[in-house]
Amino acid sequence: AAPGHADSLLSIDLLPFGERQQLLLARDVSHINRLEQIRRDFVANVSHELRTPLTVIHGYLELLDPDDVPELAPVLAEMRAQSRRMGQIVEDLLTLSRLETQQDVTDERVPMAALLAIVHKEALALSQGRHRITLESTAALDLLGSPRDLHSALSNLVSNAVRYTPAGGSITIRWQRTPEGAAYSVSDTGFGISATHLARLTERFYRVSSSRSRETGGTGLGLSIVKHVLNLHQARLQIDSAPGAGSTFSCHFGHARLLPPEPA
Ligand code: ADP
Repeated sequence: AAPGHADSLLSIDLLPFGERQQLLLARDVSHINRLEQIRRDFVANVSHELRTPLTVIHGYLELLDPDDVPELAPVLAEMRAQSRRMGQIVEDLLTLSRLETQQDVTDERVPMAALLAIVHKEALALSQGRHRITLESTAALDLLGSPRDLHSALSNLVSNAVRYTPAGGSITIRWQRTPEGAAYSVSDTGFGISATHLARLTERFYRVSSSRSRETGGTGLGLSIVKHVLNLHQARLQIDSAPGAGSTFSCHFGHARLLPPEPA
């Protein structure tokens, strides 16, 4: 069994022992792997089963006309919003299940100029004029990987920046060369995150403040999705943040994932 490999049956660690000796610790982790598999399958199956009834409920709610019973209009609006939210959670859980079981990604060209323009537009639409949003692209480089997954990771970060930055704040989306390749980053002047939370931020459903997150409409799965997408692209996520000082989320891609753009 290969140490550290997800399917490995043995977990092998070398621990320092005394001055010059080391202790080889081998543990049978096959039952942990099996339980993890059962958990993944369970989440995927439940999410899949919830999809159809939710679509039906959502469809009927859209058919109801609030003008028919004006006193129920606020109730109907709330029911629609909540069913949309539940639908988003189910979709995010399904995406996460797929990413968790996936070993690699398709190697397609992802034209960055176009993707950055889309992500910028999405941010403007979400912000509705409440923030100053700028795009600074200085790297003429495309990415190699899954267009759908990279789009979802890049937009998750801008959507977080918009949702966790009070009105009047600034958001900057950057695509630039770095010594190791290139980095996509999103900086905001928002609430920021304290060091105690940073390490756990990419865990499923982990939130710094659940009431604020609920207000802003997230599912608590966004950063887990980002982390999995980056892992599949051998990229890493860097988070620089401090309470009250805003945040920068950077995705670092290596040279192997970069391509010069196609001539126009
Ligand atoms: P959510 O749907 O709750 O936004 P995410 O996984 O995207 O879930 O983010 C996890 C948590 O990280 C959020 O609930 C929020 O507390 C914190 N967070 C993410 N992005 C930012 C940001 N740009 N500024 C401040 N906090 C953030």
